[in-house]
Amino acid sequence: MSVQKHLAELRDRIPELTPQQVADSPGPTILDVREIDEWNEGHLPEAIHLSRGFLEFRVEKACPDKDQALTLYCRSGQRSLFAADALVQLGYTKVASMAGGFQAWKEAGHDFEIPHAMDAESRIRYSRHVRIPEVGEAGQHKLLEARVLVVGAGGLGSPSALYLAAAGVGHLGIVDYDVVDRSNLQRQVLHSDARIGMPKVESARRTLTELNPGIEVLALQTRLDADNAEQLIADYDLVVDGCDNFDTRYLVNDTCVRLGKPNVHGSIHRFEGQVSVFLPGQGPCYRCLHPAAPPAELSPNCAELGVLGVLPGIIGILEANEAIKLILGIGEPLVGRLLTFDALAGTFREFGLRRRPDCPACASRTPAD
Ligand SMILES: [Zn+2]
Repeated sequence: MSVQKHLAELRDRIPELTPQQVADSPGPTILDVREIDEWNEGHLPEAIHLSRGFLEFRVEKACPDKDQALTLYCRSGQRSLFAADALVQLGYTKVASMAGGFQAWKEAGHDFEIPHAMDAESRIRYSRHVRIPEVGEAGQHKLLEARVLVVGAGGLGSPSALYLAAAGVGHLGIVDYDVVDRSNLQRQVLHSDARIGMPKVESARRTLTELNPGIEVLALQTRLDADNAEQLIADYDLVVDGCDNFDTRYLVNDTCVRLGKPNVHGSIHRFEGQVSVFLPGQGPCYRCLHPAAPPAELSPNCAELGVLGVLPGIIGILEANEAIKLILGIGEPLVGRLLTFDALAGTFREFGLRRRPDCPACASRTPAD
């Protein structure tokens, strides 16, 4: 059968809607089956992009209800007929195609959106992200627009910040008051021997912008305290806590609870580390685990206790992983779950965490679940 005959046969079976009909009757899910380059030049405002090549593989995730109404379009209204036919064969019952495609839509003067297209350099840099369907260009844009505050440019903050910068998290704030010391270098891989004496945040800014010149790194050389915490944290979407002391950890927790900001928690102790995500309103906070800090003599830090250098590397990278999942809105964040790692045994364990009804930080903020 010739293509023309095939199209005529499809037109007999697949309902076609004019752009005006599509504009006048919101309701059906609109699927754009064109290639990514075409999508980037403009698309219908409410459309979901599912390029023809991946349609059959991805449609069931995007549109799980086979009886939902779907309107497909392409550039001129032909590919969308073939695509609609493929969906009918998959069992979709209410599939239509927009006659004349995006061209006719534009010519009729209807609204369309132009997504921020990535430049050629970013397209190469993030190509391995964009290829993952769960990330894609849309996900990469979320990363590029995200604002993450990394508290501490030390053992945990170093690997976190490196991977966040590499991933293209577009706005990184690094807060730390300290300077690089030779004893830091066994684990704080943002820094180097040549930078001993330099403020850690400046050393971090240099390393991160060398790794990825396309992102903005703000060096905040200050001690996070009760006077500045709210102002600093308010400016970011989420916090990656890489601090090494209880005072700061509680301050980060309480401020994030107050501001409703996700707080990715990580901490280490010699050979053991732990990670969790405190998402206000959706799970416990740090004070639900430990309402108050242990006395100072029972809470020595790395400087006093020592730590295996690779351990904060592992925990900090797990924190970056959680931050990236939260930004992308994919996977299962470690909300209400504490993941622990024993470096000597080489084992992970997971513990369920519950909200404490009388938590001094979060109980009065949101109803306990
Ligand atoms: Zn709490």
